[in-house]
Amino acid sequence: MEKIKMTTPLVEMDGDEMTRIIWQMIKDKLILPYVDLKTEYYDLGLLNRNATRDQVTVDAANAAKELGVAVKCATITPNKKRMEEYPELTEMWKSPNGTIRAIMDGTVFRTPIIIDAVKPMVKSWEQPITVARHAYGDIYKAVDLVTDKPGECTLTFKADDGETTTLSVQKVDGRTIWLGQHNKEASIRSFARSCFQYALNLKQDLWFSAKDTISKVYDGEFRDIFEEEFQNYKEDFEKAGITYFYTLIDDAIARVVRSKGGFIWALKNYDGDVMSDMISTAFGSLAMMTSVLVSPDGKFEYEAAHGTVTRHYYRYLNGEKTSTNPIATIFAWSGALRKRGEMDGLPELMAFGDKLEKACFTVLDAGFMTKDLANIAEEPEKVTVLNTEEFIDRIADNL
Ligand code: NAP
Ligand code: MG
Repeated sequence: MEKIKMTTPLVEMDGDEMTRIIWQMIKDKLILPYVDLKTEYYDLGLLNRNATRDQVTVDAANAAKELGVAVKCATITPNKKRMEEYPELTEMWKSPNGTIRAIMDGTVFRTPIIIDAVKPMVKSWEQPITVARHAYGDIYKAVDLVTDKPGECTLTFKADDGETTTLSVQKVDGRTIWLGQHNKEASIRSFARSCFQYALNLKQDLWFSAKDTISKVYDGEFRDIFEEEFQNYKEDFEKAGITYFYTLIDDAIARVVRSKGGFIWALKNYDGDVMSDMISTAFGSLAMMTSVLVSPDGKFEYEAAHGTVTRHYYRYLNGEKTSTNPIATIFAWSGALRKRGEMDGLPELMAFGDKLEKACFTVLDAGFMTKDLANIAEEPEKVTVLNTEEFIDRIADNL
C-alpha cells in the first residue's frame, strides 16, 4: 500500500513518562504504517528542556506559529519533588504549556470524547460540550492583603504620564481581607477571536457567560469586547448557520444542564477552571478529554488534557503491564493530521484522521477498553479489559 503523502510538516512536541511511551507506540503502530509522516521534531522531555535551558520549548512554540499545526505529548512541570527526583535539573523550569500559550497567544478548548459504553451523568447530553477557558488574569494574577485596623482601602491607578485615578474600595472598622485583580483588553480580545474562530471551525454555536449584572464594569467589558469582535465574524456565522449569544452565568449553567450539548461555552479564567472540571467529570473520564490551543490567527496545537500519568510509568519501569488509556493522545494525533490535511488540501490525510478515530470507536463499541473506562461502563458484563499495548494493537488491527 502506498503511504499517504504530506506536504507541510507537523510540529511534533515529544514529552515525558508514560505518555512518552504511548507516543512512540501510537506512531509505530497507528501512524507510520499508513502515513509518510513529516514532522519537525522537538523533544520537550524534561531532561532536554533542562539541557537546552528550555530553549526547545520556545523553539517548538515558534515553529507551531510558523507551520500552523502542532501535536504535543504531556510533559512534566517540575515542582520541588521533581527537583529531588531529577537532581540534574538546574532550574525549576516553567510549565511548557504556559510558555507555549504565551507565545501562541491562544485559548484552550477542552472537549470530551463520547462513547456509547459510558453515559454522561447528565441524561440529556447527547453531544460533547467544549469549554473555552480564558487563560490570563483575574484571580490568577491578583494581589491580596489582610488588614487588622480600622481604616479605608483605596484603588489607585498611576498613569505613566502622571495622571492618577483613585476609588474608595471600602471604609472598615476591623480585620478585613482585600483582593486586587485585573485583565487586559488585548488579552480579552484575542480570547474572543480565538473563540469565534474555533466555533466556525467546529460549526457549533458559541455561548459566553459572565456576571455582568454585579460586576458591571469588569465583566461588562468582557461582554462588550465579545460583542464588538463578533461584528467581524457575524457574516461567517450566518453562512455557517451558527449563532453567538451572551447570557448571565447563572442562566448559562441552567441551560447547559438542560441542553443536548454540541456547543462551545466560553468562560472567564476562574469560571472556566471550575466548569471544565464539572463538565469533564460529568462526561466520564479525564483520559477521554482532548485539548486544543487555538491562536487568534488560526494556529492549532493538539494534546490530551491529562498529564504524564506518573503512577503508571513507574509500573511500566518495573516491567508491569499498564492500564493507561491512550485515546486522548491518539485523538491529539488524529486532530492534528486532519487539520494539516485541511490546511494543505490533502483529503486523504483528513480522511486518515477520521479513520483513526473510527477505529478507536469501533474497538470501544465492541467492549474492548482500558481499566479506567471499564470501571465506569454502563454494562460491565459486556466489557473486555485490555492493557495499554493490547488496546493499541486492537485499534491497529481495526485500522
Ligand atoms: P495525570 O498524569 O493526569 O494522572 C493522574 C491520574 O489520573 C493517574 O494516576 C490515573 O489514575 C489517571 N489518569 C490520567 N490519565 C490517564 C489515562 N490516560 N489513562 C488512565 N488513567 C489516567 O496527573 P498527575 O499525576 O497529577 O500529573 C503527572 C505529571 O503530569 C505531573 O508532572 C504534571 O506536571 C504533568 N501534567 C502535564 C500536563 C500537560 O502536559 N498537559 C497536564 C497535567 C499534568 P490512576 O493512577 O488511579 O489509574
Ligand atoms: Mg481546575
